[in-house]
Amino acid sequence: MRNEKGTERKPSWRSANGNPKSEIKTGDHLNQRLGILGGTFNPIHLGHLAAAEEVRDRLKLEKVLFIPSFLPPHKSEEDMPSAVQRQEMVRLAIKGNPHFTVSDMEIRRGGRSYTIDTIEALRQAHIGAELYFITGLDSFLEIRTWKEWQRLMTLCSFVVLSREGCRFRDIAKLAFLNAPEHDLAALDGGEKDQAVIRTGNMRVYLQRVPFYDISSTDIRARIRAGRSIKYHLPEAVEHYIIENKLYA
Ligand code: ATP
Ligand code: MG
Repeated sequence: MRNEKGTERKPSWRSANGNPKSEIKTGDHLNQRLGILGGTFNPIHLGHLAAAEEVRDRLKLEKVLFIPSFLPPHKSEEDMPSAVQRQEMVRLAIKGNPHFTVSDMEIRRGGRSYTIDTIEALRQAHIGAELYFITGLDSFLEIRTWKEWQRLMTLCSFVVLSREGCRFRDIAKLAFLNAPEHDLAALDGGEKDQAVIRTGNMRVYLQRVPFYDISSTDIRARIRAGRSIKYHLPEAVEHYIIENKLYA
């Protein structure tokens, strides 16, 4: 956790008591480094998994929490599987990775899933933990459309992943971040894998992750066209999609 000066703050002794229900019991996350990957996961795929594992390893996160949205604010898929089905696909996909957990908090909350509400709830449930919200560059470039984005960016660190078709250089358009342009260019050019932007209370970790040109949109289109989706997502998820006739 960080104070107004952006320096580390010792968690208070009160942290172990009286917190709301959480996936990880309260009291055991002082200084815990917790990654959070929110998404529609419609469906989850190897791009999500490989990027989350890479970031966990690089930033030495103890856990990555996958949080399927109930109703994504920016999307309106017509034939979207239920939130419970998308969550089940996440559960199947992360099985076997002891550092990955799925959370149903946005599904339980219902309504539109705003990241600010999720981060506030996680800060309550994991007092003393350092929160790293992981997002692809495509989503991050839209950050100014997110609910209460300025406050959100002071409540957790952001980890921004490279994504096919997006350039770190476009972060320069987010003028409030004052990102050094040579760092952005070095990430795009492959001379650098990571850079950190520190602006006021905001921390943004830019990460060039191994390249997986995989997206849920492409997977859905492949299924509709009767094409193969093998090696785009875990086998268990592929089987679940077939058994439940999703996206067909
Ligand atoms: P869709 O095509 O439906 O938008 P998606 O593949 O982008 O699906 P989301 O559920 O929207 O998947 O993604 C959740 C988060 O993971 C977003 O922040 C997104 O940018 C990021 N992400 C998804 N796929 C990748 C990938 N291959 N590499 C890096 N980040 C990714
Ligand atoms: Mg997306």
